[in-house]
Amino acid sequence: MRARPRAGLQCGDANLSCPDPEVTVNHAVARLRATRLAASSKPYLARGAGPGRCPECRLVACACAWRPSRTVDVGMCLIMGDIEALKPTNTGWLVADVVPDTFAFGWARTAVDPALLALLADPQWQPYVVFPAEFAQPQRVVTAPVPTPGRRPLFVLLDGTWSEARKMFRKSPYLDALPVLSLHPEQASTYRLRRSVHGHHLCTAEVAAACLALAGDVAAAQVLADWFEVFSAHYLATRRGLPLDTGSAAHQRLLGLGGAEGR
Ligand SMILES: [Zn+2]
Repeated sequence: MRARPRAGLQCGDANLSCPDPEVTVNHAVARLRATRLAASSKPYLARGAGPGRCPECRLVACACAWRPSRTVDVGMCLIMGDIEALKPTNTGWLVADVVPDTFAFGWARTAVDPALLALLADPQWQPYVVFPAEFAQPQRVVTAPVPTPGRRPLFVLLDGTWSEARKMFRKSPYLDALPVLSLHPEQASTYRLRRSVHGHHLCTAEVAAACLALAGDVAAAQVLADWFEVFSAHYLATRRGLPLDTGSAAHQRLLGLGGAEGR
């Protein structure tokens, strides 16, 4: 695990600026975002997608000093709605920050990336589609990953709006044979980045954190929850002018993970 305080970074207000303009993030969601941007015939103009953002954490109030990385045994497979990777509020990016084996694919109703099919068929992985039980046949539903010798859990997360996710679940035949992991979150979502999200719908980072905990990596689950909380605080500090407390418990825990690479 590393935390990366940077020389010259002034913390404590909403005007943190990233001192390093070079993009070094090269995880699956960053690559999918770059691919999706290159395919656009016009610029993406969603609210809050304007200039002045750090290219690595996508925030105006840069949070890179708190961005963790760690070794995690499970994998995450994000299947993303059309413009999801472009949204500055997308939290699949945070999952990829924390879980090295994160894969990301764009979803289309009429086509599927062969690399996604190859990943789902790879014997080193035991894939689970994470989705509410009420939408699946009962015999497919599990409530926790089942340990399988030689295979690591691969959580397939449908990353988009709720209506997009339902469509992906219904209209992706390559998912039909997979077990469905149904979560029973004890806490309501703390996702405050999009007004349309209801309290009982967890965002992608929250779902991934719950999966990490179910797979037995409670420490990684806490790191992801903290990183999501820090990201949200920095985002809202700029978006809604809320005070930014960089001494919060989540900030402190991420800094307290130490400076060693790869922990
Ligand atoms: Zn940043």
